[in-house]
Amino acid sequence: MSIDFEIPAEAKAIREKVRQWVHDECIPAEKELDTKPLDEVLGKLRKKARAQGLWCPFVPKEYGGMGLGPLANALVQMELGESSLGALSMNTQGPDDASMLTILAHGTEYQKEKFLKPLLNGDKRICFSMTEKAAGADATGMQTTAVKDGNENYILNGEKWFSSSASVADMALVMARTDPNAPRHKQYSTFIVELPNPGYKIKRNIKNMAIEGPHADVIHGGHSEIEIKDLKGAGRQSARRRRQRVQYGPAPPRLRPPAPRHAQYRESPARP
Ligand SMILES: Cc1cc2nc3c(=O)[nH]c(=O)nc-3n(C[C@H](O)[C@H](O)[C@H](O)COP(=O)(O)OP(=O)(O)OC[C@H]3O[C@@H](n4cnc5c(N)ncnc54)[C@H](O)[C@@H]3O)c2cc1C
Repeated sequence: MSIDFEIPAEAKAIREKVRQWVHDECIPAEKELDTKPLDEVLGKLRKKARAQGLWCPFVPKEYGGMGLGPLANALVQMELGESSLGALSMNTQGPDDASMLTILAHGTEYQKEKFLKPLLNGDKRICFSMTEKAAGADATGMQTTAVKDGNENYILNGEKWFSSSASVADMALVMARTDPNAPRHKQYSTFIVELPNPGYKIKRNIKNMAIEGPHADVIHGGHSEIEIKDLKGAGRQSARRRRQRVQYGPAPPRLRPPAPRHAQYRESPARP
């Protein structure tokens, strides 16, 4: 049986459109960052992108996205990578993109309205806190706990590592162990935490990897080490089929390998 590797015409067309977009708009806009604030430059760029239908390529059309499949989306992302403003201009920057899809797939209607909508509109940013010193490729090493306080509210404690864009995020998806007695891959739940939050503290912000340049940290926010201490949930939760328990906390007011010392903390059950 032969495999057809030909790229479909529609995917080629969208790739061309995005390539043009990046060359004509995003790369020139990068220079504007020398004299103008990011919000101003990005705001103008996003308005133009949206008007051309270049918005949230991975998100279904009914939620205001382009509804692209994985192949077309991959081609789009490759083009956007040419400019530090590329992905942001179309609201498809990580970790927002995958986090949006998580809420889309597992959130309640309330959560979609309150948290997803502003993300889809590009009004807010979100980060994802899963990786820990003890949990990387094998996420089941996660030690962060979420324990009920007796009133159905969860209290989270632990640490996170490599939470990209946490310093510029308005909310975080935080993974924690809710059921230590469950089978290994079913012990964890996902929580939505509004930021800033006294229980979610950035201990250290590591400068961006993969991206270099004078504006990189302002644009992408770096990667953060997080301390989670007595982070209190607000009691709203939904147990979903895949044990994705989504809850929110109260809101008060160029590639480099991981640091070698990181490895010494690993206690992953998959390791010898
Ligand atoms: C740029 C960047 C951004 C990131 N952003 C985020 C983020 O926003 N949120 C977040 O939670 N995390 C984030 N991460 C962390 C990312 O999820 C981890 O880097 C990833 O899970 C791999 O973990 P590690 O780097 O600790 O590598 P390790 O887990 O230490 O793996 C190192 C090597 O060992 C191999 N390995 C590991 N375990 C096993 C095993 N059991 N058997 C065989 N081989 C094994 C791996 O395949 C790999 O080759 C980010 C990482 C990077 C580099």
